[in-house]
Amino acid sequence: MKNIMFIAPPAAGKGTQADMIVEKYNIPHISTGDILRDIANEDSEMGNYVSEVLSSGGLVKDEITNQLVEQRLSKADCKNGFIIDGFPRNIDQAKIYDNILNKLGYDIGYVFLINIDEKELKKRITGRRICENCKAIYNINNENNIPKIDSTCDICGGRLYQRKDDNIEAFQNRYKLYMEKTKPIIDHYKELGVLYEIDGNHDVKGVFNQIDSIISGDDRT
Ligand code: AMP
Repeated sequence: MKNIMFIAPPAAGKGTQADMIVEKYNIPHISTGDILRDIANEDSEMGNYVSEVLSSGGLVKDEITNQLVEQRLSKADCKNGFIIDGFPRNIDQAKIYDNILNKLGYDIGYVFLINIDEKELKKRITGRRICENCKAIYNINNENNIPKIDSTCDICGGRLYQRKDDNIEAFQNRYKLYMEKTKPIIDHYKELGVLYEIDGNHDVKGVFNQIDSIISGDDRT
């Protein structure tokens, strides 16, 4: 299995796709957003700082995210492949990421770029609900992904919550940041020949099939 990276605007479905890859290929899913949300819940100076940045839709300082990623990738469970989601988010982070991989002896693997219309993203962002227990993702604006019981996780019965930054105001900020800062990363990985473009306007399965046909069609191990 190869290492996998997602580049996608907010609410494009990268978390959902990552979960499906985890289920099929049993590799860890490393989401800097998830790691930072856990830190934001801590009662500390760092927790307060991260919580404030997350609520505004801004970006946490590179020195913090870089360190978190290096620590996480150094763990033994990443040896047979992993999915990184939410990192790198700007070209400086991309260069740091390349260095971290080098240091650990890992290759970049696949970089999946999920392209999706802004209008569709707004619909998804207001409907997204997440299980506070198992982190399963639902969308109440999508009839194929509504929880069976209101506000309750189908899988574990946990309570569903809405992320603080899943509102139109924070979305505009996050989308603007994505367009400005994340797009240059695309050219970086295109040049390295590892970028695969995915049409994210399909349903969850349609997007997964595109990704999976690339992963499973590859015989490099
Ligand atoms: P996500 O779950 O990927 O949408 O990330 C949620 C929020 O976490 C973002 O809006 C940022 O505030 C923060 N965040 C996640 N990844 C990074 C990163 N690589 N660099 C800086 N901030 C990040």
